[in-house]
Amino acid sequence: MLDQPPLTNLQTRDVESLIHPYTPLHKLKSTGTLIMQRGEGVHVFDTQGRGYIEGMSGLWCAGLGFGDEEMIEAATEQLRTLPYYHIFSAKSIEPAIELAEKLKEIAPVPISKVFFTSSGSEANDTQVKLAWYMNNARGRPNKKKIISRIKAYHGVTVMSASLTGLPGNHNGWDLPVDRVLHTDCPHFYRFGAEGESEAEFTARMAKSLRELIEREGPDTIAAMIAEPVMGAGGVIVPPKGYFEAIQAVLDEHDIILISDEVITGFGRTGNWWGSQTLNMKPKTISTAKQLTSAYAPLGAVMVPEDIYQSYVDHSAQLGTFGHGFTYGGHPLGCALGVKAIEIYQKRDIIGHVRKLMPLFESRMKRLAEHPLVGEARYCGFVGGAELVADKKTRRPFDPKQGVGPQTAKLIENNGAVLRAIGDTIAICPPMIIREDELNELFDRFEKGLNEAEAWVS
Ligand code: PLP
Repeated sequence: MLDQPPLTNLQTRDVESLIHPYTPLHKLKSTGTLIMQRGEGVHVFDTQGRGYIEGMSGLWCAGLGFGDEEMIEAATEQLRTLPYYHIFSAKSIEPAIELAEKLKEIAPVPISKVFFTSSGSEANDTQVKLAWYMNNARGRPNKKKIISRIKAYHGVTVMSASLTGLPGNHNGWDLPVDRVLHTDCPHFYRFGAEGESEAEFTARMAKSLRELIEREGPDTIAAMIAEPVMGAGGVIVPPKGYFEAIQAVLDEHDIILISDEVITGFGRTGNWWGSQTLNMKPKTISTAKQLTSAYAPLGAVMVPEDIYQSYVDHSAQLGTFGHGFTYGGHPLGCALGVKAIEIYQKRDIIGHVRKLMPLFESRMKRLAEHPLVGEARYCGFVGGAELVADKKTRRPFDPKQGVGPQTAKLIENNGAVLRAIGDTIAICPPMIIREDELNELFDRFEKGLNEAEAWVS
């Protein structure tokens, strides 16, 4: 363990009053929390006045960084005009209409309608309910199971946590629920067999999916959900041709593909959507996070006309479309969504990401040379460096050693916030980051890694 100074008064109040998500609660009283006070550009500052480059865009979401004046103005104007209204019972608000229109315009596949939620978890929960509703409408009441993948992350509500394929979201939580199936994780470095090529690995992934579908019965399976690049499972980029191979199997069995673009939307991978980068052709899409650049909570589900028509038909039979969240389509979120997309377009944020992608790539490749790093993987402006005990054999550290979290702490002490996912250190900087700031972020990453190397040896 690294040395820990005594808790400040604010840290004590914090641990006495808050339940912290994704935190080892048993350690909090001794470690305390890092309390942030303000943000500016790509930097955040803690209550002690120390500055950090926010190398994770918060939780993969603050693509425009902190303190964007145009966003603040758009929020203020919306709060003055109409701080709250809803879109239930045939009411509506202009910002929601405008944002839905914009999303249809930029969608990677034909999209006809948008359903708003407050979060990514709610969007994925909604996706499952909508797949069930659609198949009830279509007279296929048994076609209800949803396929997800081991190491997927789709959220934390009962259903989205069930879709998530990580032990920490299942163990102790009585999850996953029925009707959820998990197929293989397409991580070649970890799950590729000895002597197997990437192409053979991909073919094996598709074969395994086919076997799962045939075992369960295709007429019991409604959909498969997948992140173009797995984020919270450890930044896992599938091999070339993976989605083409997977989709062929799904199409054969009339199973729709849902793309979870909660992290990968709005330029993160160098295109508007991760589906475009990874050559996915989803039927429906979930998004959140960079939808508002995290200036307000908002999520969305996007569906094509034929699927929407099934909701119309079913609600005609049942009397109403019985689903909706109080804050789904909140005016503040929608106004900020409209403004964020306008900024992405007029400031050519995606062009900026593409311009800096070669630098990001070269710095990730340099990390791959580090003695502690087994694999450095990346796609566009998101990456992960997996730390290993033995680079040659790929032997992982004993998880009890906590090498990942300790390394993230050392990096933090060097003035950069990154995130440990087990022993993978994730990096996902605000898309507005400048070249010099990106270099500085990687320099601090490397400094922390060097210190970690000295610490583990
Ligand atoms: N889907 C993906 C791919 C995510 O990364 C996340 C959150 O990190 C979610 C869904 C859940 O979103 P939220 O935390 O807004 O509920």
